[in-house]
Amino acid sequence: MTKKYHQDTLSVRAGNAPTELGENSEAIFLNSSFRFESAAQAAARFSGGEPGNIYSRFTNPTVTAFQDKLAALEGAEQCVATASGMSAILACVMGLCASGDHVVASQSIFGTSVQLFTNILKRWGLEVTLVSLTDPDAWHAAITPKTKLFFVETPSNPLTEVCDIQLLADLAHQSGIHLVVDNCFCTPAIQRPLALGADIIIHSATKYIDGQGRCLGGAVLGSKALMEPVYGFLRTAGVTMSAFNAWVFLKGLETLPIRMEAHSRKATALATWLESQPQVARVFYPGLASHPQHALAMRQQNSGGGIVSFEVKTTGSQTEQEAAWALIDATRMISITANLGDAKSTITHPATTTHSRVTKEARLASGVKDSLIRIAVGLEHEDDLKADLAMLSRQ
Ligand SMILES: *Cc1c(COP(=O)(O)O)cnc(C)c1O
Repeated sequence: MTKKYHQDTLSVRAGNAPTELGENSEAIFLNSSFRFESAAQAAARFSGGEPGNIYSRFTNPTVTAFQDKLAALEGAEQCVATASGMSAILACVMGLCASGDHVVASQSIFGTSVQLFTNILKRWGLEVTLVSLTDPDAWHAAITPKTKLFFVETPSNPLTEVCDIQLLADLAHQSGIHLVVDNCFCTPAIQRPLALGADIIIHSATKYIDGQGRCLGGAVLGSKALMEPVYGFLRTAGVTMSAFNAWVFLKGLETLPIRMEAHSRKATALATWLESQPQVARVFYPGLASHPQHALAMRQQNSGGGIVSFEVKTTGSQTEQEAAWALIDATRMISITANLGDAKSTITHPATTTHSRVTKEARLASGVKDSLIRIAVGLEHEDDLKADLAMLSRQ
């Protein structure tokens, strides 16, 4: 059931495969292995001659239901669920690249993704070039005969820069390269990268797919041919999603479209209000007309999403960091945490948390100033969020 239903319906209905008991809500299969009726059936399952479950590191019915639902939402042939967002990126690269291969990645991807590429995978012979998300010429110039993947996040964290997925996909395909999009910030409820020409999607299910900050999980999606080696790595290396977490994510996906709509609506209200505050120097939100790639973002996405960043002005002899920390510490409700995608709004100082391992020069060059604050807008009423940012409204 992929083509004929709307996204909202797929969120609720896709992937449902009741057992003979006819349960209406998916069951959780918390078993590690599956029994066979005979030695011959065991052999047939292991050889692949007969479909069916063998062992939960390979497949598990609850995880399969999650994979089928997310694949339907992203319009992907296949989904490989993983233990976390980071293991989704690891499985993607381990499945599709070998020592000596080259990856071009946006310099504004999730900090841990940069660490994975530059500190860990580099030791195993992967070459990585980091370039600006919004400079297609830099992507073109970085291509070598060994380039296998382009890797982007759009909108980026925390500055919400947006790249043209179709344009990068065309550029990649001219050289036989696959475009990977980490779609964690938008989810398929807002943006569907495969329909725009991307080849592979990465998810940290930990964020909006869960939606309530409970579980870690991830996913890689794409064509059957591309997912086969990714699944091969997962099945062997064991970075498998747990059945319990898959069940939580299945429940999360059912409400994903209405939650993303609400996150976007509240974020738009907050971003618009922030832009009118005298203490705010600049607001970064793709849904605002002032955003440099606003028109592109509104073509690729059906709304601005839930992440808003802004620069706060200093007063008196305050440093930029002091001004940002003072505002964060004056909040009473919004959670001070680096997580995002939760029903609870979260507030972060990227310079000293998510981006603290980046050198100061590189951080400032990428536009992440000491005065920058990121809010992942949750599901509270926007007036209560504004009131909680009391330092701004008191000015
Ligand atoms: C959180 C995050 C990840 C990593 O996901 P985990 O589930 O924490 O491993 C990857 N990409 C983006 C954009 C993220 O926000």
